[in-house]
Amino acid sequence: MANAYYIDVILPIPLERAFTYAVTPSEADELQPGMRVAVPFGKNKIYTALVYRIHQNAPEVYEAKPLHQILDQNPVVNGLQLKHWEWMASYYMCTLGEVFRAALPGPFLLESETLIIRNQDVEVAEQELTDNEFLIYEALQYQESLRINDLMDITGRKTILPIINSLINKGVVLLKEILDEQYKPKMVCYVDLHEQYSSEEALSELLDSLSRAPKQYQVILKLFQLKGGSDRLLKAKELQKESGASASILKALVKKGVLLESWLRTDRVSYKGDKPLPPKALNSHQKEALKDIVDQFGEDKVVLLHGVTSSGKTEIYVNLVQSALRKGKQVLYLLPEIALTTQLIARLQQYFGDQLSVYHSRYNAQERVEVWNNVLHQKVKAQLVVGARSALFLPFQDLGLVIVDEEHETSYKQFDPAPRYHARDAAIVLGKFHGSDILLGSATPSLESFHNARTGKYGFARISRRYGNVLMPEIELVDIKDKIRRKRMQGHFSDRLILEIEEALKDKEQVIIFQNRRGYAPVLECQTCGHCPQCPNCDVSLTYHRTRNQLRCHYCGHNTALHTSCEACGSNTLDTKGFGTEQVEQELKELFPEACIARMDLDTTRGKHAYRNIITSFEEQEIDILVGTQMVTKGLDFRHVKLVGIMNADALLNFPDFRAHERSFQLLTQVAGRAGRTKKRGKVIVQSYNPYHQILKQVSTGDYESMYSEQLYEREQFQYPPTYKVIKITLKHRDFNKLSEASAWFAQGLRNIFRFPVLGPEFPPVARIRNQYLKNILIKIPPSYSLSKTKNGIKRLEQSFNAIAPYRGVRIIYNVDYF
Ligand code: ADP
Ligand code: ZN
Ligand code: ZN
Repeated sequence: MANAYYIDVILPIPLERAFTYAVTPSEADELQPGMRVAVPFGKNKIYTALVYRIHQNAPEVYEAKPLHQILDQNPVVNGLQLKHWEWMASYYMCTLGEVFRAALPGPFLLESETLIIRNQDVEVAEQELTDNEFLIYEALQYQESLRINDLMDITGRKTILPIINSLINKGVVLLKEILDEQYKPKMVCYVDLHEQYSSEEALSELLDSLSRAPKQYQVILKLFQLKGGSDRLLKAKELQKESGASASILKALVKKGVLLESWLRTDRVSYKGDKPLPPKALNSHQKEALKDIVDQFGEDKVVLLHGVTSSGKTEIYVNLVQSALRKGKQVLYLLPEIALTTQLIARLQQYFGDQLSVYHSRYNAQERVEVWNNVLHQKVKAQLVVGARSALFLPFQDLGLVIVDEEHETSYKQFDPAPRYHARDAAIVLGKFHGSDILLGSATPSLESFHNARTGKYGFARISRRYGNVLMPEIELVDIKDKIRRKRMQGHFSDRLILEIEEALKDKEQVIIFQNRRGYAPVLECQTCGHCPQCPNCDVSLTYHRTRNQLRCHYCGHNTALHTSCEACGSNTLDTKGFGTEQVEQELKELFPEACIARMDLDTTRGKHAYRNIITSFEEQEIDILVGTQMVTKGLDFRHVKLVGIMNADALLNFPDFRAHERSFQLLTQVAGRAGRTKKRGKVIVQSYNPYHQILKQVSTGDYESMYSEQLYEREQFQYPPTYKVIKITLKHRDFNKLSEASAWFAQGLRNIFRFPVLGPEFPPVARIRNQYLKNILIKIPPSYSLSKTKNGIKRLEQSFNAIAPYRGVRIIYNVDYF
């Protein structure tokens, strides 16, 4: 047996430990940790697994099966990544397999259940396919989609994954998942002068010939002025506007062949030859902040940059990125998914040109594979990766700088499925493994990060002025109760807000209206018996959506047509209660029939990338008033927004969660920050039933520090983070009684082990989702306790729990540092 070799692999499923397979000596020779292998699992499943360790110890309790195949010649995952995954699994109480599945792009994880389809968009050169590839290609002629399992049966081959990989690379087949997520990006028209006029002679001839068409002449002159000698492509819209020409004049020039048109995807305007711009010269505040940052990097500290909205934080990042790239280091620039817009990418591209790659779960899987490989091979074009949270899983070898922008954003925390990691915190750990500099930035830092800065764990830098001394917007609080009493409301709009919207529209400025609820009205209520229509699968009222005349559940997607009469008592007295974005939009259309109004919320942005199209239209000033949920708050830089209206601040403040006040402060400050980013001072109108609320005052005076001290005091009193660590344990089952018993047992078990507060089990506000009942237990771990010992204690309790037969099937979900 001495010459028997084994590998431990990570399977992309929630197994507590690695699984062992037998390999031949020559395979053992070929294999390295981080390479993928195809392995059989269970009765007849095949998975892509990752080699974790190579050794000579036979497993004790089962006989190791041989693997099917080696899938890589070189590792696709490196040692630092594995170390990071181990940290993640242990910190967030999940398995390595769950991290593995979250980390790799889909096409890297083919398994027997993966659905494959033919790529209808390519002309396949059949003679270029190998015999095996042809077999699969042929099988897909007759059926639209096939599972890899089916293909194994059809071809009679077990070793099929590399063949499919190769077909994917050749573009012959696609994963079903990729097709489902393909999105139609907005196209923008660009124009440029035809090449034939590149010589001075040809050009002056052209201008002569246009002397009788003064408008066309103007367009060409303007084009030169705007380009200023660069290779830049101009947006047709921009040229039209700047030259005062009509669309038909531009069209005429295109028809003559003077101008060339090209349509480009707005989000991937590929970088065109221009020499990258040098970073902007920083003003004194920025310089000071930059120096503070660099000094504290020198002390190996994570640094928090607190800079008010529009203070020029991005330009500081640009400076830091540039010096890291110059040293030949890789850079990771994290942003919340939704803030990853064309705007920012185009801005960074000006500086970093083709050194920049974007990694985004909404890009299709093939594009993600490309970026993965470029990072793996340390290609220049992926030297700087700008991405959403999943970008921290990329195979970086030599990170020199990690930037976490908008570090306070709650969407950095993965909610479902596991690993339920916080991307900011995971990025800090990753940066530390690489010995890289780490910068967190925000206009409204999280309490946690600010606390870390205050206690000296993090370094700190600040900019308290907007760039160019643009004034912070003026914030006016409007008392709705008073307005109602004095009959100064039209629908949900106060006279103040209406007046300000009128003014802004008159001045051709744009307006953002924020309402944190989508749909038309949150609930429909019977005036006679008080009944509200409920979701049959979840314990929650249905939301009324007027455009589709539907009632929808925001938890499971269930929907029904609207009934005219109450299903409980039969009377025709259904009325709406509360209001959402749809109703706001409707009222605005009645109040301002001339204005162009659009809505941005989950409902209007469903076609995956639709929200970017709305953003682009708003940027291009095709929209006057944008109504939206918190989507409109995310770090967007709209130049022409003069006014921001907040319909109802109370819904935010009264949200039942210990972070509600902090979040309200952040959200309101961030929306307000969208107003008046240029010379004109912006205005924010906040409508509320309780305009004297402490948080609203702090928002209106921009007083982050007093918000921080007050909230910190409350959190300490009630034993919440940052002082205490919280872990939320959710138990889940279809059977109400079983769940109640099981969760009571678990909570009691925790109380027996620990001496700190264990709260619950309690039903969450929505106690049943998709027919599964939920119960939460919350534990609050004091700073004196070891976090890892606590987690081990919980895990041991879970083992005893799993041994109790009646509780079988009850799922336990851990959410460490829950949000
Ligand atoms: P933040 O990221 O803090 O919201 P930005 O970096 O977006 O702020 O800066 C706000 C605006 O000011 C942007 O339009 C940016 O181009 C401009 N700006 C910032 N710093 C400079 C600078 N040093 N020189 C010229 N313009 C600047
Ligand atoms: Zn009724
Ligand atoms: Zn539901």
